Amino acid sequence: MQASVSNAQELWQSWWPPIFFSFDEASVPLFQGFMGSHNQSASVQQGSAIIGINEQAVVGIDPYQILEMLAGPENSTISIEFSCRTGASIELKREKSYRPVLPAATVRGLENPGNCCFLNAPLQCIAHTFPDMVHFVAGTRPPTASNNSGNTAWQLYKIASAFSQLAMGITVESGANKAQPIVAVRDSLSVQIEEVLPDEKRRHQEQEDSHHLLVRLLDLVDSAMMTNPVSLPPAEVERRKTDEQQATIALRKAEMSVFQSYEDAVQILCSLQWDRDMKCRHEAMQQQMWGQYVKGIGCYKCRRWVEVRPEVYNMLELPIPAQASPRSGAVPRIRVMQCLDLFFDQENSRNNKDSSLKCPGCNKSGEVLQKYSLIRIPSNLIIVLKRYTFESASNGIKISKNQAVIEPAEVLDLREHIFGSGNNGHSGGVGGGTMYELGSICVHIGSSPRSGHYIALVKLRNVWWRVSDDKVRECNDNDWQEAQRNCYILFYKKRT
Ligand SMILES: [Zn+2]
Repeated sequence: MQASVSNAQELWQSWWPPIFFSFDEASVPLFQGFMGSHNQSASVQQGSAIIGINEQAVVGIDPYQILEMLAGPENSTISIEFSCRTGASIELKREKSYRPVLPAATVRGLENPGNCCFLNAPLQCIAHTFPDMVHFVAGTRPPTASNNSGNTAWQLYKIASAFSQLAMGITVESGANKAQPIVAVRDSLSVQIEEVLPDEKRRHQEQEDSHHLLVRLLDLVDSAMMTNPVSLPPAEVERRKTDEQQATIALRKAEMSVFQSYEDAVQILCSLQWDRDMKCRHEAMQQQMWGQYVKGIGCYKCRRWVEVRPEVYNMLELPIPAQASPRSGAVPRIRVMQCLDLFFDQENSRNNKDSSLKCPGCNKSGEVLQKYSLIRIPSNLIIVLKRYTFESASNGIKISKNQAVIEPAEVLDLREHIFGSGNNGHSGGVGGGTMYELGSICVHIGSSPRSGHYIALVKLRNVWWRVSDDKVRECNDNDWQEAQRNCYILFYKKRT
């Protein structure tokens, strides 16, 4: 199938809904070069969305962005051949300046037939901020007969499909349905989640906490994408065991003043643990959604790092620092970076006589330094602000909400919390940049996460929208104030 740019508009229409294009190995560099030579943010971002799958690369791309990519200077020619998922290949040529007529950018709302806002809001956020993940999940293949995990595999597949179809439907208009809200998130997604996790049904009827829903949804989607772990050759298993033993010994000897020996040991231990934790997770999901931080405990008395615990995360749950008492009625404002600092700089009990933190080495308190550091960071970062505290009370559970005004940084740099970087200039195990851009916010209005109302603020082509179920409008100042008082989950995209 041959096509020229002049009928790209039709292409856009005829290619919806297939929005996946697979490239063979040889055409990947060509496509990357094509992106790079077109200095457009949409194109460059897409370049990073290329994900290796076996010998092929798959890129999630929306047809709107194809039109954007095709716009270019006069007299330049591009020729690229690729095939869509159905196997048809297509060649696009730009032989003269082309200014496409882009379809209007709109945000589609999601209907709420009852108790659905807790699902609608995070779904809006993911759809707008993590399209690469959505497109990748959309490419999940149905389980094969040889797959003996049976019904569960099918159920997981159905959840992954429903999730990706809904999310893709939000961001791309499809002709006749323009501006119509999408119905039935409950029917298509929520009911299927309940099939796998029957306990969810009650929660969903009462209204679930968006944070908890997100944890389960991501877990189910991850499970649907699981791959069989590669079994390592015996020599490699042996090598890793030796590495681990040596690193553990090195750590035991490492003095806090000699950072280098600590750093090397930590890197080895974290890397081995990462391989274990990510054994079954698809590489693309690892890269997009998962990171790792390390909890380090040092003791001034023992003069060494006594414990190192690597942990994986697909969202960072951040404490909110206590507010400084407001002067003359001014509202205290907290920056997200302060929440991050509080999370990573856990405790330095040396100057804190009240601290009960004990050194696991000498069992003494008051001499302990506890510090978390990022080892790996994902391209899609979810930050949950711990606004709610749950305490048991005589009449059930008492929920209190921290009403702090929190400014969600539009640009966030994680550099200072990357392992090693603050101490000796090493960038730790993190490749590439450390800068993130805010893409969407899940806002909860109300005193308990299981009641009240969830809305989403989403950014689409540099314009912020407020999406309350099926009601969509451009954000105004009041909406931003509302969001700062109630922002709950922040969705960040790593800059490429
Ligand atoms: Zn000690």
